[in-house]
Amino acid sequence: MSPAPYASPPLDDRDGVIWLDGDLVPWRTARLHVLSHGLHYGGSVFEGERAYGGRVFKLAEHSARLVASARAMGFELPWKAEELDDATREVVAASGLDDGYVRPVAWRGSDTLRLVAPDNRVHVAIAAWPWPRIFADGPRGIRLGTARWRRAAPDTAPVQAKTAALYALGSLAGQQAEAAGHDDALLLDHRGRLAEATGANLFLVIDEALHTPPPDCVLDGITRRTVRDLAHDLGLTVVERHLAPAELDRATEVFLTGTAYEVQPVTAVDEREFPVGPVGTALAAAYARLVRA
Ligand code: PMP
Repeated sequence: MSPAPYASPPLDDRDGVIWLDGDLVPWRTARLHVLSHGLHYGGSVFEGERAYGGRVFKLAEHSARLVASARAMGFELPWKAEELDDATREVVAASGLDDGYVRPVAWRGSDTLRLVAPDNRVHVAIAAWPWPRIFADGPRGIRLGTARWRRAAPDTAPVQAKTAALYALGSLAGQQAEAAGHDDALLLDHRGRLAEATGANLFLVIDEALHTPPPDCVLDGITRRTVRDLAHDLGLTVVERHLAPAELDRATEVFLTGTAYEVQPVTAVDEREFPVGPVGTALAAAYARLVRA
């Protein structure tokens, strides 16, 4: 099961508007050329955002991360983060969106297909569509399988960038996990420590404290930071440290955090089983309250 919203009808066959390079354009005309640099070399950057009651949760943080991701990939967006905030609000309002998913994406255009193309025009699009919730009946818990692919070291790839280049591996790992009967993949980092799922950060509950890998080669998730604050509010200790896979044996609960997953209990990692426990349940409830506050 992937957290990406793959509802029918196909994403290129819908009504509505998409914000493209400064204008709202009819949904079906928001196309790019097949010789776009971003398509061939994977350097595009994107965000995944959620609107709750017509308001995008942590919008400023997402826009800032989009700008930072582009910079990490060597290009500047032609819009400031605050302008992207406004554009996002515009497209959400124009779509009449209540609860939904928002996908900003930026890529180098088709001026040249040279690998080194600092002068290619950078394009930005923002699409938004209804997507009430990923698990209609509330969190049901997901089963992870350890992937054969690892998160790259920070000197191997710009691991903090939310770039298509890194998602090529996440996509492959997720596909292999699903083919093996899991819901999602758990990736280890380059040292063989626990890292994250294909689109969500990992937390273990050990001796009633939360343990999560530091964001040195996993994405510094916005939900991860939010949940860390919520945990402090609930009086829980949060420890950021590298975690060996064997520490799963000591974990009484495991859960994932992410914009799409929200706070999602993990009920299995390979052969190990975990209950949906009180800590994850309390944090999921606190998160659900906060996003609509
Ligand atoms: N890790 C990866 C690889 C992701 O794609 C995501 C989703 N953006 C996350 C973690 C969680 O990040 P966030 O909480 O900002 O959605």
